[in-house]
Amino acid sequence: MKVPVLPFERFLLHDEIVSYLKKLAAAAPELVEYASVGTSRDGREIPMVTITNKATGADQDKPAFLIFGNVHADELSGSQVALYNAWQLVKDHKDGGILDKVAFYIVPRTNPDGAEFSLTATGVIRSAVHYENEPLPNSITQADIDGNGMLLQMRVPNPNGRYAKHPKDDRLMTVRTDKTPGPYYDVFPEGLINNWDGSLELTLDGRHVDWNRNWTYDWRPEPQQWGAGDYPLSEPEIRQLVDFMTAHRNIFQVLSYHTGGRRILRAPSSGSDADVPHADLKQYKELANEMGEIFNFPVVPVYQYRNVGDPDLNLRGHFHNFGYFHQGWYAFEVELGQMCDEAEMYFGFDKTYKDFQMEVGWDDKYCHVLAWQDKNPDMPKAFVPWKKFNHPQLGPIEIGGPCPKVLRNHPMKRLKTISANSQKAVLKLAERHPEVTVSGLEVAAVGGGVYRIRGEVANTGVFSTGITSVGKGLNKFIKPRAELHLAKGVTLLSRRNCVQMGHLDSMDNWGSAVPLEWFVSVPEKVKTLGELKIIAGTGGTKTYKLRRK
Ligand SMILES: [Zn+2]
Repeated sequence: MKVPVLPFERFLLHDEIVSYLKKLAAAAPELVEYASVGTSRDGREIPMVTITNKATGADQDKPAFLIFGNVHADELSGSQVALYNAWQLVKDHKDGGILDKVAFYIVPRTNPDGAEFSLTATGVIRSAVHYENEPLPNSITQADIDGNGMLLQMRVPNPNGRYAKHPKDDRLMTVRTDKTPGPYYDVFPEGLINNWDGSLELTLDGRHVDWNRNWTYDWRPEPQQWGAGDYPLSEPEIRQLVDFMTAHRNIFQVLSYHTGGRRILRAPSSGSDADVPHADLKQYKELANEMGEIFNFPVVPVYQYRNVGDPDLNLRGHFHNFGYFHQGWYAFEVELGQMCDEAEMYFGFDKTYKDFQMEVGWDDKYCHVLAWQDKNPDMPKAFVPWKKFNHPQLGPIEIGGPCPKVLRNHPMKRLKTISANSQKAVLKLAERHPEVTVSGLEVAAVGGGVYRIRGEVANTGVFSTGITSVGKGLNKFIKPRAELHLAKGVTLLSRRNCVQMGHLDSMDNWGSAVPLEWFVSVPEKVKTLGELKIIAGTGGTKTYKLRRK
């Protein structure tokens, strides 16, 4: 098996991701299946691969681990790290390895349209690229008006403008105070103005939906929650991903990649830790801390993913609350970091940042990034010098400034190290799958053609089949069930052919084994009595042949 090497020189376009995943599936058909989770608004496939050792069972019969990245358009690192996970899982496969027991569903680019916009144009975008039917008067539609292949910023001279050149670095714009010397400007995304009234009261057109505020749990509309969307799961890409999650009740673990300042994030996204039952919180923290050590990232609950001194966050319709409260998972997001982290300008908490904040203040962080870039010329350029341009509507302006997709991601070299760590973390989390097995299975003659079938069902994995205490209460995870399927001519003497169990905790976590016992009458010539099937969702589905001696 010759596994195609994952390109790691630059972020991949949608077609390149699809073609890489198809190549991976073609190189290892015994492990990889290419599929799609659905279709984006603009008609692109949302690519997915299923990775498991098919020889040891189908994906739906195994505990499954879902990884998805690049929900936010310019958080391209998420795609790359998820692709890295897929590549490594295939490349490192050995018999007896994790793919024998666990199936992985990997969706590297949840937002193909947004990522394509970010990659090909840069520009300002959070998630969706679609617009209202009619652009509002005085709104800007982003357009590459100077034809340099990038959507940057326009600085427009205005004596009453809200911005000025940064006193420490005149390449940067800063919000003016009464002490900032002029000249003053307004700063807008590069583009053309719809139905312009001649003023500089301009907005950016388009729908500023944040796909990580569009999940179902505790969804709130604008303005209570910025970016909420029209209603929960109004965004087709997120809705199709949720449909996939709901249809795959064997998923026991979910991990998503973003590119905020480096952190391991866990639930809750609103409220406080008191909202999480104690037993879950303890386990959740242990898992998060373990990941934090592997990545060498700090660990915080989402509601504390904020800068020093800021109030706690209260995110509605956020993935973590959905993943934990609506799906019952120990859901994780890894904020992989971005150019600021690379330049050691961390968000919040860190000592470095605290000191930095006291020294110069939050608004000035990009000065440091720019200074750091000047000293590291091999790094991707996050700022484009301002250039004079004659705007067809605004007249003489300048175009240039920060390049969002570069600022929002790490340089590829660093991302490779982070990806290698992510692989270790994924494997660590994957080991914790529930596993429901039957031990001591025996078929014994009791005389007169009657046989007794006995065995014991137990969860020999780590997580409960209901994963969390929240999960055990949801009607989502399949409760283990033992079914006897008898061969022709074999008669059941016991009352029922199946045993419905409640969720099984692992034996390492005070779980208990469930004894099975059936009596059957078997004609002389029948050697195989039938099959015992254990259907356990996150704990897998297993079939045992029942033979008499
Ligand atoms: Zn994000």
